[in-house]
Amino acid sequence: MKISDILKQDKKTLSFEVFPPKTSTGLESVRFAVEEIARLKPSFMSVTYGAGGGTSRYTLDIAKDIKDSSAVPTIAHLTCVSSTKETVREQIEQMKACGIENVLALRGDLTPELEQSDRNNWVFSHAVDLIREIRESEADFCIGGACYPEVHPESENQKEDIKYLKEKVDAGCSFLTTQMFFDNNLLYNFLYKIREAGITVPVIPGVMPITNANQVERAIKLSGSFMPQRFKNLVDQFGYSPEAMKQAGIVYATDQIIDLFANGIKNVHVYSMNKPEVAEKIMDNLSNILG
Ligand code: FAD
Repeated sequence: MKISDILKQDKKTLSFEVFPPKTSTGLESVRFAVEEIARLKPSFMSVTYGAGGGTSRYTLDIAKDIKDSSAVPTIAHLTCVSSTKETVREQIEQMKACGIENVLALRGDLTPELEQSDRNNWVFSHAVDLIREIRESEADFCIGGACYPEVHPESENQKEDIKYLKEKVDAGCSFLTTQMFFDNNLLYNFLYKIREAGITVPVIPGVMPITNANQVERAIKLSGSFMPQRFKNLVDQFGYSPEAMKQAGIVYATDQIIDLFANGIKNVHVYSMNKPEVAEKIMDNLSNILG
């Protein structure tokens, strides 16, 4: 099922993200975690794609497994920055062969090697190039893109970031998923600005439950997200205990999601990080709200 059709339905949705293992050694435990999350019957599940294409094979394998064995709709992420036209075309064909209907088209994170390479040699410099390539291939995918309520770290300013976001949507994105954020006001402000800029596609806020203190530093480094004092206090108070931090992090994420739903947002994506117990607690906390 296409994500665009799910988003058209008049109901709240909760979806989960999983990531593939780096090597075959971790495949079994990831498959188990993914099955457990799929058992919760989220509205859909997304499967990330490793920077530099490292885990591309597992992305499709896992996305196909979810779709075939649990009937949960899936979206496979695809990055392009280190790819050639041929590899992208190949990926598109493989996705079609696996029966994947949804793709999150991304540029991908820049590895240190890519940072140092000559950008003039890149075939795909931005996600918009990948979106155009997919559209040109005439594959009948529902394409999503990423967006950044707190501005992409490489952008000069928000105005420029939103200008390029509009270009990406106009190239053929049916919806957008946001980078994680820990203060909902940042999202509401962002939504106001992009709607004003003429971006009308559905935006799915991405919420990351922080369930251990070590995750905090990594999350800020990756996303550049602002940490509200309320969240910092929680890490200071409970970060010493893995169990207490997990409980507090789940409650914080649940609270964020409830506030989003209360403010008229219909669709929320949870960065569930291959943790079925976290996904299950959040789903339980929202059972009557999701209806
Ligand atoms: P783009 O849309 O290309 O934007 C990157 C930067 O370039 C921005 O500053 C933008 O303003 C600017 N820009 C865009 N178009 C142009 C243009 N035409 N000219 C000049 N500047 C332009 N990474 C992975 O490796 N694997 C994943 O599975 C993955 N999943 C993600 C899922 C979500 C929801 C999000 C938010 C991020 C994900 N990422 C993933 C990280 C993502 O790849 C990085 O954030 C990356 O730095 C940017 O990707 P993008 O697709 O947003 O890039």
